[in-house]
Amino acid sequence: MIQLYQPLNFMGMVYREIKQAVTDIEAMFQILDRNPEIQDKPDAPALAVNGGAIRFDNVTFAYDPARPILKGVTFEVPAGKTVAIVGPSGAGKSTISRLLFRFYEISGGRITIDGQDIREVTQGSLRHAIGMVPQDTVLFNDTIRYNIRYGRWDADDAEVEAAARLAQIHEFIRHSPEGYETEVGERGLKLSGGEKQRVAIARTILKSPPILVLDEATSALDSHTEREIQGALDKVAENRTAIVIAHRLSTIVGADEIIVLDGGRVAERGTHGELLARGGLYAGLWNRQREAAEAQEKIAGLDRGV
Ligand code: ATP
Repeated sequence: MIQLYQPLNFMGMVYREIKQAVTDIEAMFQILDRNPEIQDKPDAPALAVNGGAIRFDNVTFAYDPARPILKGVTFEVPAGKTVAIVGPSGAGKSTISRLLFRFYEISGGRITIDGQDIREVTQGSLRHAIGMVPQDTVLFNDTIRYNIRYGRWDADDAEVEAAARLAQIHEFIRHSPEGYETEVGERGLKLSGGEKQRVAIARTILKSPPILVLDEATSALDSHTEREIQGALDKVAENRTAIVIAHRLSTIVGADEIIVLDGGRVAERGTHGELLARGGLYAGLWNRQREAAEAQEKIAGLDRGV
């Protein structure tokens, strides 16, 4: 019996090792998300960032030529400001962040950072300048310290912890079984969506990029988690140029400008107050989300017997 058990045990180990490798490879691809068809121009210079002002100039784009997604989108994010992009599901909000990273080639118009066309500079320097907090963070099957340090390999332990504090995840880590040495991912501690997003925020704080793209999680978070994440995000966005891809309008009320995408075009733009006063698409989205939130609160109240 023991003889039979041992090979099975060994095979289980091999299986787990392979599964871990596959998970890491998936993670690598998701993070790098490289498109081999996009090549640097010969002798392309590095992007020279000076403030990190972003401009989309009449940008058109389609994943499939038969179905245009962006039909001439123009907007600016001045250096150090935060611009939120909102709009109905499928409007092309996340596409805008993929195009800024040059994961796909646009079919018309121009995207510039501090006046430099992103097609003219090296992809390495472009991606180095932008920090991304994605909707779904992929964690490596390693310690939580490793997962945060991924933002900058030469960061020391004190810097890792300072980033975790700012991202409001330090207390959670301190109370994990082995603190910063706790294994996470497939084989270790499973983190909730909100916790993973705060790990991603800590990584980005360590990377300290001049430009930030925050792709807000679509899934509803409880209001406590939402506040914690919001606080962490506000800290990272301070003094940086930031694009926030927003699904919950309550989180972007304070943005310097809100761009409303619809049908592949910029339908409206302005501050929260201006857009509400206009009574258009944004005001409609806002009222619908508010009604849904109020209904949810009522149901929660009934559950508590209030
Ligand atoms: P949501 O709010 O639901 O996340 P979004 O506004 O971020 O939506 P995008 O993810 O930018 O929307 O997608 C815009 C459109 O492009 C959608 O219709 C989507 O189905 C399509 N799309 C997205 N990624 C791809 C892809 N890799 N290949 C083909 N079509 C895609």
